Amino acid sequence: MNHSHPHSHDANAKDPVCQMSVAVSESAIQSRHHGQDYYFCSQTCKEMFDRDPGRYVH
Ligand SMILES: [Zn+2]
Repeated sequence: MNHSHPHSHDANAKDPVCQMSVAVSESAIQSRHHGQDYYFCSQTCKEMFDRDPGRYVH
């Protein structure tokens, strides 16, 4: 099993900044932190996360 099929399943992720549920897709706003992908409802949330990731993930 690998992750070579990005469209094989759609999923939801939680925006770590505002706790909103975000649809995971190619066009989703995302950021990578410590090897993990995080998804955001808006560019604003991503910018807040990028500024201080440690505040939102533990
Ligand atoms: Zn958000």
